[in-house]
Amino acid sequence: AEDALRQAQKMEAIGQLTGGIAHDFNNLLTIVIGGLDGVERHLAAIPESDATARIRRSRAMSLDGARRAATLTSRLLAFSRRQPLDPKAIEVNRLIVDLADLLQRTLGETIALETVSGAGLWRAMADASQLENSILNLAVNARDAMPNGGKLTIETSNAFFDEEYVSKIPELLEPGQYVQIAVSDTGMGMTDEVLQKAFEPFFTTKETGKGTGLGLSQVHGFVRQSGGHVRLYSEVGQGTTVKLYLPRATENVIGPDNPAGRAQSGVV
Ligand code: ADP
Repeated sequence: AEDALRQAQKMEAIGQLTGGIAHDFNNLLTIVIGGLDGVERHLAAIPESDATARIRRSRAMSLDGARRAATLTSRLLAFSRRQPLDPKAIEVNRLIVDLADLLQRTLGETIALETVSGAGLWRAMADASQLENSILNLAVNARDAMPNGGKLTIETSNAFFDEEYVSKIPELLEPGQYVQIAVSDTGMGMTDEVLQKAFEPFFTTKETGKGTGLGLSQVHGFVRQSGGHVRLYSEVGQGTTVKLYLPRATENVIGPDNPAGRAQSGVV
């Protein structure tokens, strides 16, 4: 719990810092991109030559870099402006079906998407738009891990961990009822070293402009704040599975001032 708190405080501080920097940086990039547009206009006013061709190439390179930087800053801004959580009971299977089109477009034509909907799935208590965001983040990571195509599977199921089970594997989970969402890819996988650091904010193995290193830390922050857990399993050359465990929604509102609700949400 202390770890989770420290992580949350760290994320909060990072969010404020990056928000400020990203905002200023975005304004500067607008000037850069505007200037490069100016170069194109001025070029149109002089006769074509080897020199203008070279200037065009340099301009195109600069513009590409500036646009990638702009994408990065807008992702940082989105990260720092995270909406407060609004937890509600979610029909997770339905949320995934509604997201399937967007997921498939994100994955491209070479990656197949398979969804396996658990029968009689409990409803999860979480913020629906943050859950969508998290699943999208995982899909983007999976896509980047499968440059030559492959398969992404999203499987849901009910997960119930009792005290005894958890006491045997204390680092695994807290006892309780969870909706499990397993997102698996057939990609390149992660080395142990990458696996250790994958949840850290700003840890990325991707080239500049492609990765922010915030995807998994965002997923982690969201799931922990929802009272759930995340587990990562990966094998180099085989693929990666990310398991999200979101708390089961109960009919009663669970809270410190509703002990009855809390009792009913407990292990049965
Ligand atoms: P980013 O995707 O911007 O790099 P993340 O926090 O989402 O940031 O991921 C951190 C790192 O974890 C990635 O750079 C990559 O090395 C590794 N990673 C995450 N997901 C996967 C995956 N599905 N397969 C292989 N490696 C992954």
